[in-house]
Amino acid sequence: MTELACSYTHVDGTKCNRTLFTSDHVTKTCLFHQPIDSMRKSEQFEKEFNQLVQEKDGNWEGFIFPEDFKINYSSIAFSINCRNAVFQDILIVKTVFQESVDFSGIVFEGSLLFDSATKFQKNITFHNARFIGKTMFRCLFKGSVNFNSTIFSDSAIFSGTQHCNLNIGCDTVFLNSSISENVVKSYPADITSWEIIKILHEKLILRINHYFKSIKNFIITTVTFTFEKVKTKIFPENPYEIRRVFNHEVHFQSVEFEKPDRVKFQMVDLSRAHITMTMFRGVSFVDVVWNKYHSRKIIYDEVVINESTDKNFKKNRLPHLAEAYRNLRVTLEDNKDYSTASDFYIGEMEAARTQKSFLGKYLFSIEAWYNYLSKYGTSPLRAIFILSTLILCHSFITWLIIPHGSFVLQQMRYCINSSELMYLINTICGLLHNSLKVITIQKFEPFISYSAGLNLLNTIFRVLGPIQIALIVLALRGKVKRH
Ligand SMILES: [Zn+2]
Repeated sequence: MTELACSYTHVDGTKCNRTLFTSDHVTKTCLFHQPIDSMRKSEQFEKEFNQLVQEKDGNWEGFIFPEDFKINYSSIAFSINCRNAVFQDILIVKTVFQESVDFSGIVFEGSLLFDSATKFQKNITFHNARFIGKTMFRCLFKGSVNFNSTIFSDSAIFSGTQHCNLNIGCDTVFLNSSISENVVKSYPADITSWEIIKILHEKLILRINHYFKSIKNFIITTVTFTFEKVKTKIFPENPYEIRRVFNHEVHFQSVEFEKPDRVKFQMVDLSRAHITMTMFRGVSFVDVVWNKYHSRKIIYDEVVINESTDKNFKKNRLPHLAEAYRNLRVTLEDNKDYSTASDFYIGEMEAARTQKSFLGKYLFSIEAWYNYLSKYGTSPLRAIFILSTLILCHSFITWLIIPHGSFVLQQMRYCINSSELMYLINTICGLLHNSLKVITIQKFEPFISYSAGLNLLNTIFRVLGPIQIALIVLALRGKVKRH
């Protein structure tokens, strides 16, 4: 009996045991595991496969699908094990997979299309899968998706879809427009006058009916259109619904794109995508949703690392996070998406900073100060704010350490009406003017009597000032260059 059964062994060690496809016993496989495609007919495979679906048998492990196969069932309500299967060209259309699907280790030898009407309601895995032909995902993954360690050898497009919900309401207008043209144009010679009147009467009735229908359609169309217009004004919701490919967590780690210039993520939600250890250089990103942290775009791996309490996990993952940010930052700069690239540069520097010890993280490192002084050279506003603070500090300390009278006496030169308020304003202006000159290394007026303390203060601020000005220039240059 065993000689007549398929010898294919599943991953769990069990045998397929379906009846052998051919009697020659060369391959000793059933129809589904038959590796020589020419020996079986597609129609036969389809027939038997439909039978499996009807019987709700989702064990398709190791199946070798024929060329130009199409999966088009409105709903598949059972889980599918399609591990290590082989597909040629395959279309998966208008099918809702209600339960989990396992495509791990699968090989798509030809082109693959998941159309926009296809949905995966539960989790799906493509772990270790290989996509050799052109691949297009326009479907919706409602559960988590695992693409870890997959290889895409040709183009891969992950594309969301945009549905237009505008109801124009004109469909009905032209439905009955040519109904009355069937009436006879010329009459036979033997026709009586009465019969002619009868025909003309029918023609008239048809025409009147036609006009009434046209008027009715016109009214319906106008009312519907007006209603929709008013509705849109009252509830100004976006009439264009964008459906992004992923609705849940996506594992996109260690994925290899052999032709990255042919890979595109368009209208895709990657806010819950794990993407470390995947090289995205050359890949196109258009209208992609990323995760956010205090208005900065971040990748989901950073969220996971931040939420983890396991120190070893953090320590091991942070270098990968920095690398992922570096890699994505360059990719997005190539995509001319400088705003996201700038956010990812901050992510890269933050990952580098948080790898340091406590003191290094917050005080004794270039990254820490680069962050404090200019948000890693990305924020001119922060850099200007710090410079202003430096000027104020310098003024305040100067005011504290100088002999009081010397400054006041010098300032009195400018103060004609020596009222209290004018005196105060003059003092403040004089101090700020002096500080600005010190910080921008200009020659300042010798109106303050020198002291050792003041000299030291000025020297320190003559070093700090130019550094901060350089950071402002750097941050501004980054913005101007990019935009
Ligand atoms: Zn078999």
